[in-house]
Amino acid sequence: MKQLAADREVLTLKVPNQFFYDWMKSHYGDIIQDTLAEVSGRAMRVEYSVVMDDHSENPQPEPFFEEKKPVIRKPERLPTNLNEQFTFENFVEGPNNQFAKAAAEAVVNSNDNNMYNPLVVYGGVGLGKTHLLHAIGNAFRQYNPGKQVIYVSSEKFTLDFINAIRENKAAMFSQKYRKADLLIVDDAQFFKKKERTQEEFFHTFNELHMSGKRIILSTDRPPGEIGLQKRLTSRFLAGLTTDIQSPDFETRIAILRQKSDESGIEISYDVIEYLATNIESNIRELQGALIRLLAYSSLAKSDINLELAHRVLLDITGKTAKPAVNMEQIVESASESFGVKKDDIYGKGRKQEVALARQAAMYLSKELTHNSLKSIGLFFGGRDHSTVIHACKTIRGKMDDDDIFNAEVKTLLRRLSGPVLKS
Ligand code: ADP
Ligand code: MG
Repeated sequence: MKQLAADREVLTLKVPNQFFYDWMKSHYGDIIQDTLAEVSGRAMRVEYSVVMDDHSENPQPEPFFEEKKPVIRKPERLPTNLNEQFTFENFVEGPNNQFAKAAAEAVVNSNDNNMYNPLVVYGGVGLGKTHLLHAIGNAFRQYNPGKQVIYVSSEKFTLDFINAIRENKAAMFSQKYRKADLLIVDDAQFFKKKERTQEEFFHTFNELHMSGKRIILSTDRPPGEIGLQKRLTSRFLAGLTTDIQSPDFETRIAILRQKSDESGIEISYDVIEYLATNIESNIRELQGALIRLLAYSSLAKSDINLELAHRVLLDITGKTAKPAVNMEQIVESASESFGVKKDDIYGKGRKQEVALARQAAMYLSKELTHNSLKSIGLFFGGRDHSTVIHACKTIRGKMDDDDIFNAEVKTLLRRLSGPVLKS
């Protein structure tokens, strides 16, 4: 990213493609904006311009994207901190998020403010909670132009609250959030252990709820499992709680296609399929891989092909792959899975279920570690290497014969070896 131009009101930044733009804006947009205001001492606007380096003689960048945050707004559209890039239209629907999306749309379309109030969307990282929350806010604003939408993360809410207390402005703080017609609070799990903030939020929540204002929340797990104050948890659960799961293969393909369409760069199906096959858990990772792919190809001036995709994946796996599993961890898992004490696995006992758990643990050690038969035998109570060979044979035989046992061992194998990304 480079600075292209700056005048008194506008700073224009050059980015290589739409993904950079999305990423920069969602991760650093606020920081850039704030820093700029601080440094320049006035409100400045940030514009982004997407420029592909083509080394033409007279590069004339066209400003494709403009931050839609003019200083003065039409009076009927109140200012908002929503990210307008996140909409229902570009939220790809799949079995993993269908219900959450339907509930979100129902909230926006319904005139009944008590329906699904609050709506809580929970799910793991990078699965689209924030995207969905912004989509709700954006659509709500569109249908209700005079109404005030406030989006805030629980962290920001907490920080604001702390600052307000410090500056003796607690009353002003309370007013600010109680003005909302729709209050969106992202990642509410961070309220945990912040008792006074929870108290403040509890009152904000009640006030809004009582006057028929809407509240949407996201959390990283079911609200009852976060460990928030009981009265707050019960408020959260009074509306509708819905989850977002990891996307299946087809949905991952659809999302990658949608993102590559957005970027205006054509990516062949084999590359998309390759990424969708190897990055399974998380859409943020999927998108990260795509951004890298685009960045690599524009920096190295090479085509986007499978080879490049492979390099990108290696880069990512290098960073996120779990460290290799060790034999203690294997014993731990085998003990849990077979319901046999760890000490018994190391011990001499010959009871059938103990022997089986021990043999399975030896087999897993052979499959998943680089230890020799000899050192595996030594580790499991000073046994001979031929005992380990026998154990492996027994387990393989039983896996062939017994489907349930087979599934059990495969699950262990996967759990112990499974980094987020396969390579
Ligand atoms: P979370 O808040 O759950 O951690 P985000 O909403 O930040 O996840 O999503 C991470 C990235 O994945 C965002 O860039 C978002 O646009 C994208 N994303 C997630 N789900 C979808 C979806 N269903 N369709 C399109 N993009 C998605
Ligand atoms: Mg989020």
